[in-house]
Amino acid sequence: MDMEQLADLRVIAIDGPAGSGKSTVARLLAERLGLRYLDTGAMYRAVAFAAIQRGVDPVDAAEVARIATDMDLRVDDAGVVVDGTDATVEIRGPEVTRAVSVVAANPDVRSELRTRQRVWALEHGGGVIEGRDIGSVVFPDAVLKVYLTASEEERARRRAKEMTDLAYDDVAADIARRDAADSGRAHSPLVEASGADVVDTTGLGVDDVVDLLVSMVDGPAEGGR
Ligand code: C5P
Repeated sequence: MDMEQLADLRVIAIDGPAGSGKSTVARLLAERLGLRYLDTGAMYRAVAFAAIQRGVDPVDAAEVARIATDMDLRVDDAGVVVDGTDATVEIRGPEVTRAVSVVAANPDVRSELRTRQRVWALEHGGGVIEGRDIGSVVFPDAVLKVYLTASEEERARRRAKEMTDLAYDDVAADIARRDAADSGRAHSPLVEASGADVVDTTGLGVDDVVDLLVSMVDGPAEGGR
């Protein structure tokens, strides 16, 4: 696979921190555009899940990289299946959420998942792909790159609403910890990709954000694209 093949695909890259509304927005945007949707955070979570399942310490870089390479992984609208086990619910749980940052900082894991993400895009002729490094590293030639963000309070509030069994303060602390880890890591840190349009969703409804992104795909180039 060469980068030129990837440049011809219709990829829409959506990056941003936890709770920025990426997943909801990306899924609805894909529906509106008739494209498939890929949640790359679910892939990192799946590697963390597989490590825990096999009793491997997430900080054991070599062993976790081996798991990432060997594992059979399916991520689609129906959920996440890891080596034949449905992990859709478990990958969102606190144990995986605690382990995922160190797994995502592992350069060999990132390299393996990057390849899987590019193969997925080739197989599907592009798609709406959501994560932390999609516009900056995985698909630098995406037709649209969006960096979604929102105030820290709003992001924590949204996540706390989804995770009804967790207290707001715990959710806020977890988001702050993951933001720091994702932005501060050496390999493919969370950054605003060059050429990305930054969209602050604080105070905006999901439909407003999706409408805005649809107009950015269809309409005249914005932000100097
Ligand atoms: O998007 P979600 O919060 O489910 O992602 C879980 C974790 O996976 C993030 O905190 C980040 O460490 C990692 N991740 C990443 N690169 C991506 C997607 C997710 O490092 N493209």
